[in-house]
Amino acid sequence: MVRDVRLVTLSSSDHVVVVGGGLAGWRFVEALRREGFGGAITLVGEESFAPYDRPPLSKNVLVGKWGTEKTTLATVESIEESRADVRLGQRATALDVTTTTVHLANGSMVQGTFVVIATGTRARRLGYSADDALHTLRGREDIENLNDALGRAGEGSIVAVIGGGFIGAEVATALHTRGFVPVVLEVADRPLLGVLGPEVSGWLERLPEDAGIELRTAQRISDVQKRGNGLVVHFENGAEFEVPTVVVGAGAVVNDEWLASSGLEIDNGVVVDENLMARENVGAIGDVARFAWKSALGTERVRIEHWQVANDHATHLAHFLVTGMSLAHTLVPYFWSDQYGKKIQVLGHPSPKDDVQMVSGSVEEGKWVALYSREGSVSGVVTLSNPRGLMLSKVLLDQRTPLEEALSKAPWTT
Ligand SMILES: Cc1cc2nc3c(=O)[nH]c(=O)nc-3n(C[C@H](O)[C@H](O)[C@H](O)COP(=O)(O)OP(=O)(O)OC[C@H]3O[C@@H](n4cnc5c(N)ncnc54)[C@H](O)[C@@H]3O)c2cc1C
Repeated sequence: MVRDVRLVTLSSSDHVVVVGGGLAGWRFVEALRREGFGGAITLVGEESFAPYDRPPLSKNVLVGKWGTEKTTLATVESIEESRADVRLGQRATALDVTTTTVHLANGSMVQGTFVVIATGTRARRLGYSADDALHTLRGREDIENLNDALGRAGEGSIVAVIGGGFIGAEVATALHTRGFVPVVLEVADRPLLGVLGPEVSGWLERLPEDAGIELRTAQRISDVQKRGNGLVVHFENGAEFEVPTVVVGAGAVVNDEWLASSGLEIDNGVVVDENLMARENVGAIGDVARFAWKSALGTERVRIEHWQVANDHATHLAHFLVTGMSLAHTLVPYFWSDQYGKKIQVLGHPSPKDDVQMVSGSVEEGKWVALYSREGSVSGVVTLSNPRGLMLSKVLLDQRTPLEEALSKAPWTT
C-alpha cells in the first residue's frame, strides 16, 4: 500500500538509525537536519572511512589527479555539525523490525525508532581460481590495492580489464592515461549491448579504438589462474593471456543478505514503496532499494545504481518522514560515465528493448543525442558528449511525451 501522507511524523524524541555510510546514508543524515529534525541520529557504516563519493574513484582518482581524501563527503566538521553519532568500521548483521534494533558484528546493537537501510552494493566477483589476486573497484581500499599492484607491475605493463561496461571502460581509460596498456575483455559482441541496446552500443563501438585502447569482444573466459608472480586468463577455446594485473568490472551485487531474517520483502534489494518505505518504521534508499518508481510512463519497480538517484532518495525520504508529505516531483534518473575521452549521459530508465533513434549529431562527429521510446512515448535520452542536448531534452521525461511530439518540438536543437 502506498502512503502518500504519513500521519505520524518524526519528532525530537525519535532516534533514526541509518545503516550504511555511503552516499545515500550520509545525504540522508544531511537532509534530515535540513528538514529540521532535532532528534537523535546514529549512522553505522562498515567501512573505516567517513562517507565518501565513489564516481571519482574510477575517474580523477585512478588517473592520479585526485588523492582519495578529495572524495570525502563527510568531513570532521560536517559530522560534528550534523550531531549524528557516526560509527565507522561497524557491520550490521541483522535487523529486528518489531523493535527497530540493528545488530552489529561486534555483538552490540543499536535500537532506534526508525531504521534507514542504505547498504548499497559491492563489486561482483566471478569466482575464478585466482580470485584473491584479482582487483575490483568499489571503494577507497580497492584503489590503494590496485595502485600497489600497478606499482609492482611497472608503468607500460599490460592490465587485463574483464568487462567492458561502465566501470571497465572508465578503468581502462584511466590506466591508459597513466601509461599502462589496458586490454578490455568483453563477453558480449559489443560493450553496453545489454544496457543500452544494439543501436546505441553500435554507435559507441569505435570509442575504444579511437582512444587507442584495445577492446576484444566475444571473449569467453573460463578461468583466471596464478602463474609465478603473474596471472593467466584462460579462454574456453584453449587460448591463454598472461598478464601481471587483472581488474574485474562485472557489475555489482546488492548488500541485502544481512536482512535475510528481518521479515522484510527482499527481492534483489529491499522492496519499498514510492516513498521508500519498507514498513511503518523502516525505509531503504540508494543502490539497495528496489523502489516503486513513478515515471511519466507509469509505475514500475526498479533498483537503480545511480549517484543522482541515491541523492534524490535521501532528500525524498527525509522530507516524507519529517513533514509527512510525499515530494510531488517525478524522479527522472540520471547517470553519466566518462570513458574513452567521451562523456555518455543517460536520462530516464531506457530499456535495451526500447526503440531508438539518433535525433542529433552523428557517430563521425563523436557527439549525438539518441531518443528511446516505448509504446510510442519517450522513455529515455542518451547523449554522447552533448550535455546541452541532454539538459534540453529533460522536459520530454518530466511528463509523458509522445514520440511524434518530441520529434516535432526537437528541444535538443534549441
Ligand atoms: C567506481 C565507481 C564509479 C561510479 N561512477 C558513477 C558515475 O559516473 N555516475 C553515476 O551515476 N554513478 C556512479 N557510480 C555509482 C554510485 O557511486 C552509486 O550509485 C552510489 O554510491 C550509491 O550510493 P549508496 O549509498 O546507495 O551505496 P554505497 O555507495 O555502496 O554505500 C553503501 C555503504 O554501506 C556499507 N555497508 C554495506 N553493508 C553494510 C552492513 N551490513 N553494515 C554496515 N554498513 C554496510 C558499505 O560498506 C558502503 O560504505 C559509481 C560507482 C563506483 C563504485
